[in-house]
Amino acid sequence: MSDRKKLTVLGGGESGVGAALLAAQIGIPVWLSDAGAMADRYRLELSGAAIPFEEGGHTWATIFDSAEVVKSPGIPDSAPLVRALQERGIPVISEIEFAARYSEAFVIGITGSNGKTTTTNLTHHLLATAGFDVVKAGNVGHSFARVLTERDPAYAVLELSSFQLDGIDRFRPDIGMLLNISPDHLDRYEYRMENYVASKFRIAMNQRAEDLLLVNADDPYIRARLKEQGVKARLIQLSQPPTEELAIEVDGHRFDLEASPLRGRHNFFNARCAVQTALLLGAAAERIQEGLNTFQNAPHRLEQVAEVDGVLFINDSKATNVDSVFYALDAMSRPVVWIAGGQDKGNDYTALLPLVEEKVKALVCLGADNARLREVFGGMVREICECRTAPEAVAQAAALASAGDVVLLSPACASFDLFRNYEQRGDLFRSAVLEHKRKIETGS
Ligand code: ADP
Repeated sequence: MSDRKKLTVLGGGESGVGAALLAAQIGIPVWLSDAGAMADRYRLELSGAAIPFEEGGHTWATIFDSAEVVKSPGIPDSAPLVRALQERGIPVISEIEFAARYSEAFVIGITGSNGKTTTTNLTHHLLATAGFDVVKAGNVGHSFARVLTERDPAYAVLELSSFQLDGIDRFRPDIGMLLNISPDHLDRYEYRMENYVASKFRIAMNQRAEDLLLVNADDPYIRARLKEQGVKARLIQLSQPPTEELAIEVDGHRFDLEASPLRGRHNFFNARCAVQTALLLGAAAERIQEGLNTFQNAPHRLEQVAEVDGVLFINDSKATNVDSVFYALDAMSRPVVWIAGGQDKGNDYTALLPLVEEKVKALVCLGADNARLREVFGGMVREICECRTAPEAVAQAAALASAGDVVLLSPACASFDLFRNYEQRGDLFRSAVLEHKRKIETGS
């Protein structure tokens, strides 16, 4: 491929292919380059839209010929090719930056270390229930660019990872949400927390005084950063107090969460953010309540799988960092048999110690190397055992649990040591629990 191309897309996943499809539709000369192998469906889509692409390596010379490069979030800024592009002064942007140029939608952008997917889904559901013309996109479901190839909605709720935010230049949400910041992905931020915090705050960097930024008033990293340098947008600070009640109050309205699947103060905070946004946009309180009642959370997030012999099994496989496990344990009101472990990202478990001491009666380690967990929790949890598959974990946990207990898979670690991803870990856990239930019920 030697002819000059205006736009190169690096990475042929959902965001890259979405960006290429949108560019082609607009009439921008575009091609895509992926260092690995792409999924068949993406290959087919690119071919169908007559978009050239390469796989299994990047042809640097052709890429250097681009006016601009859209980089997929999975490719770090430190990659030699990205560095080389930057040295040549070729702009490298994220798919969100690219897509937003071609949308008039009112944008609600949601970021944070945890709770993005839940809050994005909920905000979208509340607005859709209230009759708004709204789509959700970004890290959840389809890329924003792909959505725009279909239509430009009146409202877009976007889940934004820090990697997407690293590649913005002019992107600006009309309403931004910064849910929380806790150590995660530090390998991409030179192991410096301040770099990661700065990345999250990019959500506000282009906001104007008339835009809104909802933030977690209880988050120490957010508070410190706001004190240091503030933001231009109008701040709405929401807190996440511990509560026994299954209800939240926002702007003088009381909302009942009894019928919703949202449990735990972290989820009540997510709900407060979503409800506040819906109220700000003029949704009626009764419609919001209806939306809360009919909301279905995504799987693997404190998902109640089954109750077997009085033991409740919960799949929280998406809890891949310490903070999300903190809120999972915090939400438990029954003794816990905790299944944890996997690929440790250099976790600091200190914040969990009081909760583990209070609530965890046994720990089932589900990881290739469980030395850290044994070292940290060995003196505190009476029973610790190890296993390497989900059915083994379920069998061991069931044996350790008594009626009235909870078996909680909330790993605090990535899944890649034993599983393809957190979804596979959660799916295998769910299947094992259902198989265990079947056996108990049929006596087989
Ligand atoms: P993300 O998209 O940011 O990864 P998810 O909504 O998928 O967030 O939730 C990931 C994990 O974090 C789940 O275990 C979930 O129970 C937990 N979680 C959800 N909301 C919050 C929150 N506000 N604070 C801390 N943990 C949360």
